[in-house]
Amino acid sequence: MKIVEIFTSLQGEGISSGYPTIFIRLAGCNLSCSYCDTPASRIGGEELSVPEVCDRVIQEKPAYICITGGEPLLQSAEVALLAERLSAGGKRVSIETNGTMPFETVLPHASVCMDVKCPSSGEKSDLTLLHALRPLDSVKFVVGTGEDLAYAEDIIRRYPIQAEVFISPVYGTDYQLVASYILIHNLPARMQLQLHKFIGIP
Ligand code: SF4
Repeated sequence: MKIVEIFTSLQGEGISSGYPTIFIRLAGCNLSCSYCDTPASRIGGEELSVPEVCDRVIQEKPAYICITGGEPLLQSAEVALLAERLSAGGKRVSIETNGTMPFETVLPHASVCMDVKCPSSGEKSDLTLLHALRPLDSVKFVVGTGEDLAYAEDIIRRYPIQAEVFISPVYGTDYQLVASYILIHNLPARMQLQLHKFIGIP
């Protein structure tokens, strides 16, 4: 599998925000979001086998492992096997996806965070995937504009989402606007700020 980097930091987002986490960043992406903060992950990468990746992380102390990208599910067969082995080794595995690729094969061994692309990203997720999410999974809307917030609300209201829903302002945008919108519209969603960006860690 193509790996861009493996590093340890605090998880900055989602259900396990704040926990020490090993990040495995995979190469390649099928989208080109306007605000992409990991453009280097869309190209290149080092070829490592699943056992080689396991060897690098399984003895490390953090219990949480986040497989991210890029779009990790472009390598879904390897990701499913990796998640299975890490889970069997006692790790708590999560997979971040841009919501354009099926993820059923990874569900037995990992939680999934589906990033639903909003209009300002310039991209679109496959909303039919939302039905496969479970209560231990999550949905993230990265919002940069009022139009994005209205889009997120429309989806939250129309789709029976079992997963936890997060609304995450693009770093450096108007956080008060997002907070006010969630309050005024009483959205069944949690606002989150990207912890790692505020404290300046990877
Ligand atoms: S899906 Fe993620 S990695 Fe791919 S272009 Fe969008 S923000 Fe960047």
